[in-house]
Amino acid sequence: MKIAVIGTGYVGLVTGTCFADTGNDVICVDIDADKVKRMQDGEVPIYEPYLDTVFERNIRQKRLIFTTELESTVKASDIVFLALPTPPGEDGSADLSYVLGVADQLGKIMDKYTVIVDKSTVPVGTSELVHKAIAKHAKVEFDVVSNPEFLREGFAVEDFMKPDRVVIGTSSARAAKIMEDLYKPFVRQGNPLIVMDEKSAELTKYAANAFLATKITFMNEIANFCEKVGADVDKVRAGIGTDSRIGKRFLFPGIGYGGSCFPKDVQALAKSGDAYGYHFEILDSVLEVNDRQKLVLIEKLKRYFDGNLKGKHFALWGLAFKPDTDDIREAPALYMIDALLKAGATVSTFDPEGMENVRKIYGEKIKFADEMYEVLENADALLIATEWSVFRNPDFDKLAKKLKNKTIFDGRNLYELSKMIELGFYYESIGRETINPAQ
Ligand code: NAD
Repeated sequence: MKIAVIGTGYVGLVTGTCFADTGNDVICVDIDADKVKRMQDGEVPIYEPYLDTVFERNIRQKRLIFTTELESTVKASDIVFLALPTPPGEDGSADLSYVLGVADQLGKIMDKYTVIVDKSTVPVGTSELVHKAIAKHAKVEFDVVSNPEFLREGFAVEDFMKPDRVVIGTSSARAAKIMEDLYKPFVRQGNPLIVMDEKSAELTKYAANAFLATKITFMNEIANFCEKVGADVDKVRAGIGTDSRIGKRFLFPGIGYGGSCFPKDVQALAKSGDAYGYHFEILDSVLEVNDRQKLVLIEKLKRYFDGNLKGKHFALWGLAFKPDTDDIREAPALYMIDALLKAGATVSTFDPEGMENVRKIYGEKIKFADEMYEVLENADALLIATEWSVFRNPDFDKLAKKLKNKTIFDGRNLYELSKMIELGFYYESIGRETINPAQ
């Protein structure tokens, strides 16, 4: 099939590359000319495991092309995917200007029956708006399909190639058939392709993300309570995760969820509710608790240093909102850096993939190290914000030698408490006992 993908971010680039890998001819369009040039030169502009191999293979076999030209691309395509940003607007609701802006142009360009597929995460009712925007100018038949994307950054290629499910929202049998054919190679193992109406498909995406954000937030509250009563959240987690109704995943406590999806999608669903006269009380709490949780390590730090962080120097491991990505959008680490700088502290940091993006925001305000032990030099404590696997088994002798104090504040519960006792570190984590060698 001839496919156009408009927007080549984490979703669009993976979508385009994976569709090319199943034999389709894919043209990816982006307005960022510099990014398009880099991709034309064979550079993958984001860090995503395995993407470079599939990307390179499909460029070489000429099934994957990059351009800034919308008109010629749409004319050459049977299916047009919109993988455009839907960032939060000023009031937290999803900003649809990118999606509707492109939809408005499509109607003027299309010269034959075309299926327009919305892959961006959008509020209920958006496919109707997209349909109207296109219909204003269209002289040919078309269908609008909602096909929300569930890939996880860090596992994007794997998730796209072997999705838990594919959701297709359309009331057109013709478009449903085209989408089923397109996705056939990805659901060969019996993973379901679920066809439903547009609104249900749109809401499915928000419901999934809001549910997962709620699950994380619930566990963070249990962890905070564990600290108050002297229980161990890891034991509670093991105790409840074995219940098949609950499941083991997404029960790890930490310093709040971040990223480009959960924060904005929870907010957007809440706003969408308000627009229809339905108030999601549970989402208010999720948003409030998560905002607090992002600074829970800083609160611990302040208690440890008697409320005064001025003049202190901290090492920070981890910037990306989660491991295996360079995405730093809404990353808890950034909230921590802001709080530390505001309190008059200095910060040295290391992240395997996220430093370039963070440098664009902070410049010289914080220090960046080339390797993880360098940041420890003379630090009053080490803070851990992201659970990159390279942080899981560090050389603790080096840590002890380089840090000014053998003190770790771990927002991801990477280390066994017994190990910290054995090595004589002061160690605070989330929802577990504080290890204090002085006591
Ligand atoms: P992104 O910000 O990484 O990428 C968006 C791309 O669109 C950028 O390259 C930008 O230059 C381009 N763009 C903007 N306006 C354009 C225009 N008029 N024409 C062509 N290109 C244009 O975004 P993303 O993370 O890929 O997310 C895209 C959508 O998918 C969002 O709605 C998001 O919520 C959703 N989503 C994201 C993820 C994720 O993990 N990132 C997962 C599922 C769904």
